[in-house]
Amino acid sequence: MDGRGWDPHENAKIRGEITEMDSPGVQDEYVELDGYDEKTQKEAEKRLQEVFEKIPRDISLILFTSREKNAPFNSAAREVIRLVRQMTSKISLLEFGLDHETARKWDVRVSPTLLFNPEKYRIRWLGAPVGEETKTFVEALMMMGYGQVNMGEQAGKILEEIDSPRHIKVFVSPSCPYCPQQVVNALKAAIMKPEIVSLEIVDIQANPKLAEEYSAQSVPQTFANEVLVAQGAQTEELFMSSVLRLEQQYIFIPDDDAPLIETDLVIVGGGPAGLTAGIYAQRSGLKSAIVEKDALGGQIATTPIVENYPGIAQAGGKVLVELMVSHALEYARIFQGEEVVDIATGDSIVVTTSRRRFQTRAVLLATGAKHRHLDVPGERRLSGRGVSYCSTCDGPLFTGRKVVMVGGGDSAITEALHLKNIGVDVTLVHRREVLRAQEHLVEKLQQEHIPVLFYTVIEEIAGKEGVTSVTLLNLKTGKKRHEKADGVFIAVGYEPSVELARKIGVEITPEGYIKHDAGHRTNIPGIYSAGDVEGGYKQIVTAAGQGAEAALAIFEDLIHPYWKQ
Ligand code: NAP
Repeated sequence: MDGRGWDPHENAKIRGEITEMDSPGVQDEYVELDGYDEKTQKEAEKRLQEVFEKIPRDISLILFTSREKNAPFNSAAREVIRLVRQMTSKISLLEFGLDHETARKWDVRVSPTLLFNPEKYRIRWLGAPVGEETKTFVEALMMMGYGQVNMGEQAGKILEEIDSPRHIKVFVSPSCPYCPQQVVNALKAAIMKPEIVSLEIVDIQANPKLAEEYSAQSVPQTFANEVLVAQGAQTEELFMSSVLRLEQQYIFIPDDDAPLIETDLVIVGGGPAGLTAGIYAQRSGLKSAIVEKDALGGQIATTPIVENYPGIAQAGGKVLVELMVSHALEYARIFQGEEVVDIATGDSIVVTTSRRRFQTRAVLLATGAKHRHLDVPGERRLSGRGVSYCSTCDGPLFTGRKVVMVGGGDSAITEALHLKNIGVDVTLVHRREVLRAQEHLVEKLQQEHIPVLFYTVIEEIAGKEGVTSVTLLNLKTGKKRHEKADGVFIAVGYEPSVELARKIGVEITPEGYIKHDAGHRTNIPGIYSAGDVEGGYKQIVTAAGQGAEAALAIFEDLIHPYWKQ
């Protein structure tokens, strides 16, 4: 048998032994992580089957497993691969043990590791492509199977400039809604330039030691040639620039000759306000384009559970996002992973994004809000190293460990409950005596016996490579104490994202929100606002309502432009 050949006996042996060891209970956990019911799952499979059937190119997958290590991840990886293999004969699978000569040939040491067409690409997946990562896995297969990478012209130009080896590592977790965007960026680079770009996708849950070695305690986190080049997801252009320059890039200025799309309305932001506005505008007959630089859904994408959206008694945040996005897609065009960098106002409005320009008649700023910082020593330095603002993304790495959650609002309580639910030892720290959160959530907090330190603030977060302790100050007694902690989760509210609004001269209130009238009109004709960027109650349902109102006002104004009267 040659190094890569199929040895049915060996394979059957490995499979048999591992199957006996696997715990079906653990695998069930992954099915739950997906958050879909059976009917949705079946529909998704059917749609996938239609696309997979037409794949023109063969894809050879090689899975390496060890029966001693990560059995639940091994079986989860097998299960996902089995599902896609049922849809097409173009995908083949070989499976070997870590002690097999094939593992040595490809220098594979971790179980599970999945290689994709290793004679052609240097792409490996360390872990199982489950949860959010299943989408990425499917996209990887599509790109390889069709031999096509859908990359923007601007990003393509930057990738062209990379002329020496880049070894990219992206740390991900199955519950992180931002991770797929970053992994897809990296896949594009590794598929387009296989001779110099290699990629390792590292699941932090399956590889906690490797995550610890890189101090990667938040996801996504990207390294290129062992240099940290990104914390969080990036647009395609910023990703390619960061990999080219080997340092995180924050600004990308597109070429002037970016292609132009004509539309009636550009909606900046793909949260509930923007998505609802897209539905209402298009139904009123306005051609609409929603542009979102990060994950669609805004803050809901990382909300563990939503229980106050009418008609939906309880749903995971990302499930609600999927529903909203698929509804919006029936009407508006969505440009995700693309950042609006400028808006030229006047008789004709031109919106410049990282990939193109839109000539439009109106713009709706639904840019939402970004999380607030504590601004205490150690917070920025240890961000991604134990300091986190997203419990759904990073929580799983802290299972069985001790963390503090800071804040007394709905977010802090919802997230503390989520952490407790996944086995994290969480203590809530709040600066006042009374929690601001809804009574219903406060009751749950008590039922779950989550300890709360009232009148307490964090003065300092300490640790070298990662968080090891916090200094707590009791505001009533003035006493300080050091508390051991492996992580600090911060949920102390949001600040409106008004940078773009400020840049184009939109008036801002003293509280920092976009100033607007009852029709969501700003001081600049043709520019409107909706959602959390306007202040107010900041609920999903109010943001959706503001998006609808703004879209209807825009429709009326475009028929009877008030600025021309
Ligand atoms: P929030 O309601 O503004 O609460 C922020 C919390 O952080 C407050 O308890 C505040 O303390 C505390 N805080 C602020 N700055 C701090 C600092 N520097 N140090 C220590 N503590 C600080 O923010 P949120 O919880 O993120 O919620 C935002 C909005 O989303 C709200 O309208 C909320 O109702 C909504 N939301 C709803 C749900 C839900 O319905 N399930 C879930 C999440 C969010 P004080 O209380 O002393 O001001």
